[in-house]
Amino acid sequence: MHGMATLLSYNRNHIDFIDSKYKKETFIHAYTPVIYGINEPNMWQKTNGIPIQCPDFKKQRGKPKKKRNLQSDEVRIGRTSKLRRTYVVVRCEKCGLDGHNRATCDKSVVMSRVGKP
Ligand SMILES: [Zn+2]
Repeated sequence: MHGMATLLSYNRNHIDFIDSKYKKETFIHAYTPVIYGINEPNMWQKTNGIPIQCPDFKKQRGKPKKKRNLQSDEVRIGRTSKLRRTYVVVRCEKCGLDGHNRATCDKSVVMSRVGKP
């Protein structure tokens, strides 16, 4: 504010003291050229040069990661990974039905043990 008052007292225009990079003409000059997008790689012109390959993998600096890669049947639950629980279907030796064992079997029929000594 004090600077503005000084400029007015000397009868000078404040625009003359503004750097050119803040002026509208500079902004328009910078953004006037149009940047066109490029075609997809399959539309690029082929040259006889060596095809460009990905750079070689280099181990990066820093602490190595502690999380291992999950197996295909693993599910990450929260912060830990757990193996999926596989349930075994219990089969009764007495009656041959699924869902219970011979200790909890309520069938009174005693089946013959075929194939076992
Ligand atoms: Zn049974």
